[in-house]
Amino acid sequence: MTDNLQRVYQQACDHARQSAILAAVQAALEWDERTMLPPPAAEYRAEQIALVSGLVHKQWVEPRFGDWLAELAASPLAEDPYSDSGATIRELRRQRDRAVKLPQSLVEAIARAAVLGQNAWQEARRKADFQQFRPFLENMLALKRQQAEAIGYAQSPYDALLDDYEPAALSAEVTQVLAALRNELAPLVAEIAQSGRRPDVSILARRYAVGAQEQFGRAAAARIGFDFNRGRLDPTTHPFCTTLGPHDCRITTRYNERHFNESFFGILHEAGHGIYEQGLRVDQYGLPLGQAVSLGVHESQSRLWENLVGRSLPFWEHLYLEAQRQFPEALGDVALRDFYFAANDVRPSLVRVEADEATYNLHIVIRFELEQALLLGDLSVGDLPGAWNEAYRKYLSIDPTDDAVGVLQDVHWSAGLIGYFPTYALGNLCAAQLFAKADEELGGLKALIAAGQFLPLRQWLGEKIHSQGQRYPAAELIRRVTGQPLSHRPLIAYLRAKFEPLYGL
Ligand code: ZN
Repeated sequence: MTDNLQRVYQQACDHARQSAILAAVQAALEWDERTMLPPPAAEYRAEQIALVSGLVHKQWVEPRFGDWLAELAASPLAEDPYSDSGATIRELRRQRDRAVKLPQSLVEAIARAAVLGQNAWQEARRKADFQQFRPFLENMLALKRQQAEAIGYAQSPYDALLDDYEPAALSAEVTQVLAALRNELAPLVAEIAQSGRRPDVSILARRYAVGAQEQFGRAAAARIGFDFNRGRLDPTTHPFCTTLGPHDCRITTRYNERHFNESFFGILHEAGHGIYEQGLRVDQYGLPLGQAVSLGVHESQSRLWENLVGRSLPFWEHLYLEAQRQFPEALGDVALRDFYFAANDVRPSLVRVEADEATYNLHIVIRFELEQALLLGDLSVGDLPGAWNEAYRKYLSIDPTDDAVGVLQDVHWSAGLIGYFPTYALGNLCAAQLFAKADEELGGLKALIAAGQFLPLRQWLGEKIHSQGQRYPAAELIRRVTGQPLSHRPLIAYLRAKFEPLYGL
C-alpha cells in the first residue's frame, strides 16, 4: 500500500467527517426547534437550517472529494467491499453519487415545497378538507418524479426514491414480501375480529399522572439499555430520535394523562432507536461504519424493544409490580393478565400511529400501494381520497369518517417523504426475524426478559447489528445474521403465537 493512497484515504475520511459534523449542527438546530423553540423564532430557525443544509450538500459534492473517492474505488483498498476501507469507500461513493445527481435547484425546490406542503397539510387536516391540500401534493409529486429521473433507476422510478431510505431495496421485492405478509395477516385479523374475547381497554385510559409516567418511562428506557449519560429524553409534539454526536443521542416523547400507552411504548420505541445509535462505533463517527445501515433496520430496533420485548407477557411479569406501585390508583385493582391483554388490544382502526401490532402493517401496505400508483401516474391526486377509503374498506373493513382521519392523517407526503412508508413494515419484519434468531442463539429470551435481564439481547444486537454500521447492505446484513433473506414468516409466526392464546383462536 503506497503512502500516497493512505493519505488520500485519510483525506476522504476527514472530508466525510466534516460533513457529518455539519449535519450534526443541523440536527442540533432541528432538535431545538422541535423541543424548545419559542414559536415566533421558527422563521429565522428555518433560515439557519437551510443555510447549514446547503453547506452539508456543498461539502458532499465538492469535486476533489469525488476525485479522491474515484481514485480509492479503483485501488486495492476497495477490493474487498466488506472490509473496513472497502465498505467505507463503497458507501461514501454511493452517497456522493446521489448528492451529485441532484441539481441544487431541485434540492431547493423540494425543500421549499416541503415547507409549504406541510403548512398546507396542517391547515387542510384541521378542516378535514383534502381539496385544499391537493395542488401542493400535485406539485410535490411532480418534483419527486424529477428527482427519480435525475437519480435514475433500473425498473421503477419508485426505486430511486425508496433508495434514499432503504438503500438498494427494489419495489418489486418489497411488493412481494408485503403481499405475502398481507395474505397471512388478513385472515389473522379476521379471526381476531370474530373471536368473542375483548380486553377492557378502559384501564389504560384511567388517570396516569404525567410526572409518574415520565419517571416510569425513563426508568424502563434505562433498564433496557438506553444510556442517559450519553443521551436525553424530552417532551415534544411528534416524537423522534436524533443524534447530535457520538455521545449525544436525544429521544423525545409526548405525555397524555389519560392514556398510558402513548408515552410508555413511545419511549421504549425511541429508546430502541437510541440504543442502536449509542451502539454505533465511536471511532467511526461520521463514517459509514459508524452509521445506521437503513431506515428499515433502524425501525427494527425500535419495534423490537417496543413490541417484541415491551408488549410481551414476560416483560410485564418483570415490571408489573413496579407499575402498580407507580400508578396505584389506576392499576392497583388490575390483574397482570388484564393489563397485558389491554396493552395488546387488536382492532381495525383508522389511524396508523394508533394501530396495534397485527393491523399496523395493513396500514403500510395501503400507503405503499397508493404512493406507487401516484408516482407512476396510475392514480390521480384528485382520485386519491376515494382510493384511500376504498383500500381501508378492502383491507381493514373500516370506513374513514373524514379526510382528517383518512388520507390526511400522515405528514409524510406533504414533506416529500415518498418511498418512506415501506421501511416501517420492513422494520417489523426484520424485528421479528432478529428476535427469533436471538432467542435461538441466547437460549430462551422469555426467561431472560421475565428476570429483567436485557443485557444479553442488547449485546447480541450490538455485536450483530449496531457495531456493523454500513459494512454490509441491509438485506445482506439480515441474511448474514439470521441465515435467511428477509421474510414475512417470522413475523406471522410471532403474531400467531402471541394472539392465538390471547383471543382463544
Ligand atoms: Zn421509529
